[in-house]
Amino acid sequence: MLDLIARPFRQRLAAFVAVRPVRVDLPHGLVSFSFDDVAASAARQGASILDRFGMSATFYVSGAREGTQCDGRAQHTAADIAALLATGHEIGCHTWAHAETPRLDDAARAADHARNGEWLRERTGNAADSFAWPYGRIGPAAKRFYGERFASCRGVQPGLNVGRIDLAHLRAVGIERRNFDAARIGRWIEAARRRRGWLILFGHEVETDPSPWGCTPEALTEVATLVRDSGLEVVTVREGVKRVKARRWWPTTPGDTLVRAAPPHTGISA
Ligand SMILES: [Zn+2]
Repeated sequence: MLDLIARPFRQRLAAFVAVRPVRVDLPHGLVSFSFDDVAASAARQGASILDRFGMSATFYVSGAREGTQCDGRAQHTAADIAALLATGHEIGCHTWAHAETPRLDDAARAADHARNGEWLRERTGNAADSFAWPYGRIGPAAKRFYGERFASCRGVQPGLNVGRIDLAHLRAVGIERRNFDAARIGRWIEAARRRRGWLILFGHEVETDPSPWGCTPEALTEVATLVRDSGLEVVTVREGVKRVKARRWWPTTPGDTLVRAAPPHTGISA
């Protein structure tokens, strides 16, 4: 009961306190596609749709799900990870066990992190740069833990990454059956173009009969078409972070070097 009360407070507090603040000052808007967990259909159908548009996405993978069924849906295999890498997509981290990270202590977070790190290095040869919060749940201690270990952490709070943002809690807009509306996503894309912001889209499985959190191949194709027609550049999340950091005007973490000294851009209007 205490946790039921504490959770929304913890979520709001963590969302309010920036761990990795940075100001977005891009020459033009950016769009990223991402998929969480990752279902086999996202790694196959989803990736092949984006490949046809020449777009690369970020796949946030939970290693424990490899080769399993989750809610009756086949999850990615080792071959899927290899194929995604070979076609230029990014593999990110979504914890090993798809853990609700604010409920873990630092020792449990470290154990899960080490296990997924080992698995990722086996599959990709590298540690991941990008992290996505399982269930979108964040907390102050968890945010510090993952914020220190990844270049970015993406949540599920809808929004455009523009102005002052927190790399430890990037905003993202879902491509989800439960509320899919191409016109609404089109408005987010237009806002990214107009405000020179970074729009991150996220999804789960890509199937003809998806769960409320997944989408159909037609819906993903429709969104990719809108993005292509907008003329906005599509980048992986890892690349998006590089673009943002290369243009920042103050150092964000100790040890970071100041790349560009200039006053903040103030001409962005809603
Ligand atoms: Zn997830």
